[in-house]
Amino acid sequence: MFFHVVLTTDCNLRCRYCYGEALEDSGSGFPDFEIDYSLPRRISYDVGLLDSFCRRDPDCVLIFYGGEPLLCVDEIRRIMDSVKAKYFLIQTNGTLLHRLGAGYVNRLHTIMVSVDGDEALTDFYRGRGTFRRVVDNLKLVRQEGFNGEIIARMTVMEQTDIYKHVRWLLENKEFAFSSVHWQLNAGFWNDFERRFFKEWSERNYNPGIRRLVRFWVDNMEQNGVVLRLYPFLGIAQSFLKREKASLLRCGAGWINYTIQTDGTIIPCPAMWGIKDYYLGHISDADPLRLKKVFVGEPCTKCDVYNICGGRCLYANVTKRWSEQAYGLVCKTVRNLIDAVRTEIPRIRRLIEEGRISLEDFEFMKYNGCEIIP
Ligand code: SF4
Ligand code: SF4
Repeated sequence: MFFHVVLTTDCNLRCRYCYGEALEDSGSGFPDFEIDYSLPRRISYDVGLLDSFCRRDPDCVLIFYGGEPLLCVDEIRRIMDSVKAKYFLIQTNGTLLHRLGAGYVNRLHTIMVSVDGDEALTDFYRGRGTFRRVVDNLKLVRQEGFNGEIIARMTVMEQTDIYKHVRWLLENKEFAFSSVHWQLNAGFWNDFERRFFKEWSERNYNPGIRRLVRFWVDNMEQNGVVLRLYPFLGIAQSFLKREKASLLRCGAGWINYTIQTDGTIIPCPAMWGIKDYYLGHISDADPLRLKKVFVGEPCTKCDVYNICGGRCLYANVTKRWSEQAYGLVCKTVRNLIDAVRTEIPRIRRLIEEGRISLEDFEFMKYNGCEIIP
């Protein structure tokens, strides 16, 4: 099982799609749910409890999460020193990575770092100077011996040219990433009316994805390399292995859960404080027998549910975008699936010719990459 461990709700940045959206969304609560407004801002339970909880699952993987988890360096060290987990991963904005120390950083399996594209775009979304601090830290951790996976985790919205910025992340001379994942900021806030999502997704994002998939397979053909673009990897692997159906690909609610700062278990970090989805507490829950929560309609009636898996449990249950607006998100999913499916014959041929192999599409599932953006 995978568990996001929320160490704090505080963050040292004020990104547009997080802090900015929260400000503009204030007042538009969740009338259909009972919300817990009394959660501690920092981890408040005994780390020993987390250890006993994890020990009940020999494959327990912990993902440090926030807010910004590196505001809690002492707590991270204490957990890494005293909790028996198979792997430790972190999802961070990267600006404080230098604080943890090589002894701990080098024990991490994966660093997922929030970076949205080139310097100008990242700083536009995340604040001036952010990109530079992140890249300096990533160079430092590499120099100091971290040899695990570093995944650039982009948040994507209307200012993003997906084709241009993914290529930039892969190819720039400053710090070329070998792994990239992205998620659309879509369906998470009551913001559809103040966005221009329809125009952007149809004119820029969807065509950009088709172009990017072609580039991805061209690169396999020309260089024999399967670039680790997570949304493509996940979908292509399902097609190549002829999987019949996929559950929610981020794993939320069935294999990837979240532990709040008070030790309560919820399906995913976005469902913070929604009491209707409280699934137990680490003091007495069995990690291998947690209640499972699945997406409902419209996903369960959708003709691409078997390959999409439902995209997002949080969006599915909170329905912050109307059916019509969310339909545009589903259009992006269909476009992505179709773009990858179109290239499967070419990929199969490259595998048959021995240019690439099926193993090149392997990745650690449920590591925090949602696969369906
Ligand atoms: S395409 Fe949309 S409706 Fe269909 S399964 Fe995915 S998220 Fe659900
Ligand atoms: S995709 Fe949705 S359900 Fe999955 S982790 Fe992200 S917010 Fe949660």
